[in-house]
Amino acid sequence: MHIGFLGLGNMGAPMARNLLKAGHSLTVFDLSASAVAGLVEAGAQAADSPALLASADVEVIITMLPAAAHVKGVYLGEDGLLAHVRAGVRLIDSSTIDPHSAREVAKAAAAHGNPMLDAPVSGGTGGAAAGTLTFMVGGEAADFAYAQPILAAMGKNIVHCGGAGNGQVAKVANNMLLGISMIGVAEAMALGVALGMDASVLAGVINTSSGRCWSSDTYNPFPGVMDNVPAARGYSGGFGADLMLKDLGLATEAARQAKQPVLLGAAAQQLYQSFSQQGHGALDFSAIINLYRAEHE
Ligand code: NAD
Repeated sequence: MHIGFLGLGNMGAPMARNLLKAGHSLTVFDLSASAVAGLVEAGAQAADSPALLASADVEVIITMLPAAAHVKGVYLGEDGLLAHVRAGVRLIDSSTIDPHSAREVAKAAAAHGNPMLDAPVSGGTGGAAAGTLTFMVGGEAADFAYAQPILAAMGKNIVHCGGAGNGQVAKVANNMLLGISMIGVAEAMALGVALGMDASVLAGVINTSSGRCWSSDTYNPFPGVMDNVPAARGYSGGFGADLMLKDLGLATEAARQAKQPVLLGAAAQQLYQSFSQQGHGALDFSAIINLYRAEHE
């Protein structure tokens, strides 16, 4: 299949490479010339603008952009995709954005005759490279069925979450819970250690008791408890605190629009905001435990 791919960053580039590996032909665009050059080297063709990418003879266009403003600009802008793409070309946005914006862009695409799916991912850059991402997909069932084999070249779990925007709903709900659970584990671990317990023994108890969760048993934030997690390497790599802050902002904003209380989500957002203001936004999000520890080794 001939696929257009726009947005070749930390996630988009490895995802696009996996589409090439699966035998698809790709036309790509990114504002960064070096990002485009990397994909051209791997066998893709370059387009010089979103308009030219849209005018290429593609059957599907996938976008992987930083935030809603970029997505709206790329799809709805004067020289954007919808202004140039022919009706019938299928559109898939895998960026993480708020559900309201996803629905707005999908509605404009449908009015133009282009079926659109929101398909945000989880699994991080490691999952993008390994082709094991989870896709949370919103849109019509028939469009999901068409896209499923394409997404399967980049991911392992591909879940239809309902109508337009519901992929983003699943993503913001999951990541809000992840932010809250990481802070909960950080608070409990720091308390136990401050009261005199060994961190590894405490983690072992939690991980066989009712407090167990992904943040405690797979990604424990306390240094020395686990190998191969960011806490074991000074909180480098992993999922940046600023990306968690972005996702918590999406959750609290979506909640505001729905007049739905998210008391712990809002508290988590404020904690990450404070952590980012202190200059730690580039650290892995599990470094939030440093807010609870007097001295960090
Ligand atoms: P990134 O900043 O590394 O990449 C974004 C790319 O988009 C860049 O190459 C940039 O040049 C390009 N871009 C920006 N505006 C553009 C435009 N107008 N036209 C063309 N290209 C443009 O970001 P990323 O880490 O790849 O994340 C992409 C999305 O995936 C975000 O919404 C993020 O929240 C989400 N996400 C990221 C991770 C992660 O671990 N990095 C995990 C899950 C989801």
